[in-house]
Amino acid sequence: MAGGEDSSVGQGVTRRRLIGGAAAGGVAAALPVSASGGSRTRAGGRRADVVVVGAGLSGLAAAESVARAGRSVVVLEARPRVGGRILNEPIGGGEVIEVGGQWIGPTQDAVHEWARELGVETFPTYNEGSYVYHRNGRRLTYRPDTPLLGAIPPDEGAAEAGVALARLNDMSTEVPLDAPWRAPNAAQYDGQTAETFVRENTASPGGRFLVDLGIGALYAAEPRDVSLLHLLFYIRAAGNEANPGNFERLINTAGAAQETRFVGGSQEIALRAARRLGRRVVLDAPVRHIVQERGHVMVHSDRGTVRARRAIVTLPPALAGRIRYSPVMPARRDQFTQRMPQGSAIKCQAIYDRPFWRDEGLAGQAVSDRGPARITFDNSPPDGGPGVLLGFVEGQFARALSRRPAAERRAAVLENFVELFGERARHPLRYVERDWSQEIWTRGCFVGFTAPGVLLDYGEALRRPVGRIHWAGSETATIWNGYMDGAVRSGRRAAAEVLAER
Ligand SMILES: Cc1cc2nc3c(=O)[nH]c(=O)nc-3n(C[C@H](O)[C@H](O)[C@H](O)COP(=O)(O)OP(=O)(O)OC[C@H]3O[C@@H](n4cnc5c(N)ncnc54)[C@H](O)[C@@H]3O)c2cc1C
Repeated sequence: MAGGEDSSVGQGVTRRRLIGGAAAGGVAAALPVSASGGSRTRAGGRRADVVVVGAGLSGLAAAESVARAGRSVVVLEARPRVGGRILNEPIGGGEVIEVGGQWIGPTQDAVHEWARELGVETFPTYNEGSYVYHRNGRRLTYRPDTPLLGAIPPDEGAAEAGVALARLNDMSTEVPLDAPWRAPNAAQYDGQTAETFVRENTASPGGRFLVDLGIGALYAAEPRDVSLLHLLFYIRAAGNEANPGNFERLINTAGAAQETRFVGGSQEIALRAARRLGRRVVLDAPVRHIVQERGHVMVHSDRGTVRARRAIVTLPPALAGRIRYSPVMPARRDQFTQRMPQGSAIKCQAIYDRPFWRDEGLAGQAVSDRGPARITFDNSPPDGGPGVLLGFVEGQFARALSRRPAAERRAAVLENFVELFGERARHPLRYVERDWSQEIWTRGCFVGFTAPGVLLDYGEALRRPVGRIHWAGSETATIWNGYMDGAVRSGRRAAAEVLAER
């Protein structure tokens, strides 16, 4: 690819020097960027080798790879901030909580190493003491130091759930990560929902509850929404090449995806990466229309039009499908984006002067059938003060609660916390919630997934470039799909694709 012109580079700094400096965290850091990690200058009239749509982790990782390779890049971000599905919320005293993605775990090396390089440190998720299990009005506490769900009494169906999950792990080994639709039993697996599997593999209400809850927690959707083939792919993707994934690594804390947190909040990674990119990142610039012309693309945003050799679109497919394209997208790609919905989650957090549940030997982690927050965690800052209880309202519970007034949502979640952790949970200092379905530049979370039949007939459209437009974003990742780690990997993969083109 030929080097393009970047009209945002001025002040006597040559483009090459700027790129070198930016890659080393030098010159670009001195350029005027806002605390939200980008610039509000107009993008109009700029030219670049590559234009990246979206400044989540995927877009920022893509842009950094392009800049490091000595090419010019402009990132157009719809929101007035960077980070996309990761976002910090200050809670006083210099502490933050995350209202979007936050944890990492073993094998999530891409995001972990990037964070380390950017100077963002980690600390362990609080995981001391007993968990709470609440079903049919019965509350139990148990130690999580036995194998998965092993400490839950047999009459609650834990053994049966364990067998079902082991079966899913086993079936997932057949699924090729780069092409799940080529699995030997792809048609059979993509011809049914995850719920069909659960019904066939659990006999007791307790066993079914546990497996349903586990699957629902992965997607913030109901097992009836999700293709079994997508679930198997998702399980296998929860690991790297040397260490393929399994269900336990997705849902557990110790040794799994909820093991580790970022000091200063996960959004710090995006903010620091964006600061290094400097004025290449343009905020408040929703992209509305991408026009492919001979030899280049014209990307039209609310902050003007950027002309580039190639575009990398990093939005979840459901949002990528809302951009207008000229010429129009091939039918397969368009129909694919019609068929990959986002999950439904409200992340709810109550802040107390201290984590009082720890006094009673509780880890702050709970599962409950009544909801609305069926899964909770201790989300206190590293030094344990203030105390933060986090509850996830997911799937049908989020769909129902999202429509209720804010005061009703708060009351329902706090009642839920009282049931799990006692009366002291009723009166937090502050209550924070984020309903990601209401976010117009995300429209649901944690991730886009597919219903039956979609991977089989449309899967190939997920990553295949269309002319000069390349696709990234966590939904396109083959390792840790749906996670921050997958987002970073997908951005780098798309950048490599673009850099390999002439
Ligand atoms: C509540 C919640 C909890 C989660 N928990 C975890 C967790 O603990 N661990 C984990 O690893 N992952 C977690 N995730 C998932 C993780 O946050 C995402 O997989 C990851 O951040 C996705 O990054 P991305 O860059 O692919 O997409 P996004 O972050 O969605 O980035 C896309 C960007 O594009 C922008 N955009 C949208 N439309 C346009 C447009 N037309 N023009 C320009 N820009 C546009 C958006 O504003 C956004 O900034 C969670 C997500 C949520 C929401």
